[in-house]
Order: sequence, then structure tokens, then C-alpha cells
Amino acid sequence: MTLKIRAPVAWLGPGELVKHAAVVTEGGTIAYVGPRAAAPPADELVELDGFLMPGVADRHAHVLLADPGAVLLGGVTAVRDLAWVPEEIFPLADASELPSYTGPLIRAVGPMLTAPGGYPTGDDWAPPGTARELQGTEDAHVVVAELASLGATAIKVSLNAEAGPTPSDAELAAIVEAAHGRDLLVTAHVEGVGQAERAVGAGIDEFAHAPWSERLSDALITAAALSMRVVSTLDILSYGEVTPELRMACENLVRFRAVGGTVVYGTDLGNGPIPPGIHVREALLLHEAIRMTPEEVLTAMTAGRLAKGAPADLIGLGGDPLERLETLGDLRLVVRAGRVVSGPRVR
Ligand SMILES: [Zn+2]
Repeated sequence: MTLKIRAPVAWLGPGELVKHAAVVTEGGTIAYVGPRAAAPPADELVELDGFLMPGVADRHAHVLLADPGAVLLGGVTAVRDLAWVPEEIFPLADASELPSYTGPLIRAVGPMLTAPGGYPTGDDWAPPGTARELQGTEDAHVVVAELASLGATAIKVSLNAEAGPTPSDAELAAIVEAAHGRDLLVTAHVEGVGQAERAVGAGIDEFAHAPWSERLSDALITAAALSMRVVSTLDILSYGEVTPELRMACENLVRFRAVGGTVVYGTDLGNGPIPPGIHVREALLLHEAIRMTPEEVLTAMTAGRLAKGAPADLIGLGGDPLERLETLGDLRLVVRAGRVVSGPRVR
């Protein structure tokens, strides 16, 4: 089954805008993208009156605290689940690859690695199994090997000193060594004064949230920009208000970007009143508070370009988000793995 989507304009990725565009999908992948005049025929046609772009990827979600079907209908075609019970999330991640699955593509880390009694053990949002309490460096190696064999896409560490004990420096080093030995990146929940510095020192690859506990030093920001990226999750700090935590996180992120650091979009879906699907307020914060251009925001929100051979995960908007990012809230089409999930009638 092949599908052709025509649109007045398509954003394929940074710097690549095509007018009078067509995308043709075959199976779950893109077979053609470019001017509609040169597009091959297809079994079905969708005519979008708007702006076509890659589906949105949320790099920080707890997808089972939401409705995966609603996440996809809201324009998010891929999520990275950053802590859940392994017996539930890894089978779901496998199932999400099947054409019959009605949610986004799910990538998962499994449980958050923490110290005995550390965050998020006993936290309201986290069912038993969401945290894995480490028993030393040997155990760290064993746990990382086990998660890798289950299909973990990254390893998540809890460095939340405000909520309890955290793994030791030796355990952090063991986690990073074991993960990097398997080409897995390590992402960290960092909370409390001094924890960001520990993360950078240990060779951790990503902050799972924009750091908000303290103003990071220039030296630390520079070191982090070289070796780490940041998942934004700004709106969970305030849910539309302006709070000291949001101000601090934004200040750190602006400085991080000024020295070349990379920020990607993530919402922490499942914690607090974050809507399933595209979270327009998070996108606006990246633009207005972090001073990313609309195209930089779209780049941060997507996982790759529309190109031949790429997954056929696309969305259509009613207007041009490069002009007005609010248009991200005017969703007209969702295609996942070459299947029209919602949108104009297929002909
Ligand atoms: Zn989270």
C-alpha cells in the first residue's frame, strides 16, 4: 500500500523547505519526498491544505501515565519513556513497532537507577519497579547489562539529592562505563546543589531536565556544552506561570546554548498537567525564554528529516510554524508508519 500526501509547503528538516511538495510512503517508510510534479503515483492520496513536517518526538515522557493513543493523535509520533516498570514498558516498546499499534513509537530506558531509598522509590507517580536501587559497582554493571538485553535505548540515573540518597561516584562511573561499552547514552535526573557537577564529572551524556536547582558556573556550563545535551522539560517547572525555578532553568539553558550546547524538546508527560501530544507552551518557552528561532525549535522537536528511507511519521499543520509557533496547536494531519491516524479524507 502506497500513500501520497500533497501539501503547499513541506519542511523536511533544517534549511530544507519545499513548495508544492509531495511525500510518498511505502509500507512504513518514505519512498519519495520532493516537488509534487516529480512524485511517483500512489494507491491513496491525502491533500493537506497546510504545512507538512516530520512528526514530533518527545524525549522525556512517562507514556503509561498518559494515553498513548492520545499522544499520537496529538501529533507526537515518537516518545522516549524515561522511567517505568521494565516488565510493562519494554514489551510495550516492542509492540509499538508493529503496524497494528495505535500509539507513538516508544523507546524506553526501563527503571531509573538510584541508591537504596533514593528518588523515585516510594514517590506517588512511580509504581514499584520504576526505581532500581543499586547495591554497589558490581551491581551497576549487572543492571546495565540486563537493561541493555531488554532493549533499553539509554540508561537513566537519579541524582536527586533533595529527595534522598544518590548513587556514589564509583557507582556513577560504573554505570557510565557499562553503558558506553554498549553504545548507550546515560541520562540523569539532576536535582540539588552540586549534582549537575557530579553528572558532568562522571561523563553522563544528558540532563533529563534543564537544571534548575542552582546557577551553574561558567566552567561547568562550558564543560556540559561539550559533552552533554539537555532535554528541556521547562513547563513542568511552572505550568504556564513564571517561577524562580523556571527563571533559573532558562538562565542556565540560555548560557548553555550560548557556548554551543544542544537542547532537545521533552515534556515529562505524565508528571503534572502536561497534555498528551504536542505541548505548544513548551515550544513557545524554547522560543521566547531560550531564544531559539522557530526553525531551531522545530529541529529540537523532531528526530530526523523527511527523507527517502526515513520512517513515514509526519504531521500537517493549518499554518506555518516558522512564522508563528502557535500553529503547532493547529494540527490537521497525523501519519504514523505510513498510516493516516487522523486528517483529511483519504482518496
Ligand atoms: Zn520524568
